[in-house]
Amino acid sequence: MKIGIIRCLQTEDFCPGTTDFKMIKDRKGAFEGIQEDIEIVGFINCGGCPGKKAVLRARKLIEKGADTIVFASCITKGNPVGYACPFAKKMKEIIQKDLPENIRYIDYTH
Ligand code: SF4
Repeated sequence: MKIGIIRCLQTEDFCPGTTDFKMIKDRKGAFEGIQEDIEIVGFINCGGCPGKKAVLRARKLIEKGADTIVFASCITKGNPVGYACPFAKKMKEIIQKDLPENIRYIDYTH
């Protein structure tokens, strides 16, 4: 599995993504039960509110080899401050609509 992670630009200011990487390494959270190797192709922010650039970033991650697009939990769950992205639903909708058929999507990390 080759994943491209999209994170919240607002959260990037204070979160280095440590738990995302740990979840992947330990096969926990959204990665529990995944047997295959997981390669991180890229870790990029959404491009800022209101998230219009996220679809372009997902395309870039796919271009770089990702077969799975993952939203970090800062977007959909609001980790670590409990403030989920108000644009998450729309971003997800646009990205999923744009994804080639063979590309998977996961909407949180932990
Ligand atoms: S659009 Fe959402 S994910 Fe992106 S910076 Fe704004 S709040 Fe964060």
